Amino acid sequence: MKITGVSRTLIDLLLEIGHERHPYEFAGVLREEEGVIKELFLLPGTVSGEDSAQVLLDMMPLDLHTAGSAHSHPSGGLRPSDADLSFFPRVGRYHFIVGYPYADGDWRCYHSDGSPAPLEVVS
Ligand SMILES: [Zn+2]
Repeated sequence: MKITGVSRTLIDLLLEIGHERHPYEFAGVLREEEGVIKELFLLPGTVSGEDSAQVLLDMMPLDLHTAGSAHSHPSGGLRPSDADLSFFPRVGRYHFIVGYPYADGDWRCYHSDGSPAPLEVVS
């Protein structure tokens, strides 16, 4: 299934969880339905420190509908780290990063190679 969009509700949820977990990081798996990324499976546990998302992502279940990953950067930077770029290709094609202060525009979506992934935000 070709992925063309991401739901507004999901973006809002990612920002909200980022805010709730701050200053800890969260990580989760994203699933698509009919070409739109809609669902988050939040991984349990809180780990402090940048790039610990990789540890959490190692534990996550993957299936055919896995679209990618999402995690937060409590430091506020929205660019993928070297560690992010090493795990992205293992967990799907679309990867969201939300960053402090988790306001409306504080998120980015990347392809597995770290290039920006333009997705339509649908409600
Ligand atoms: Zn990261």
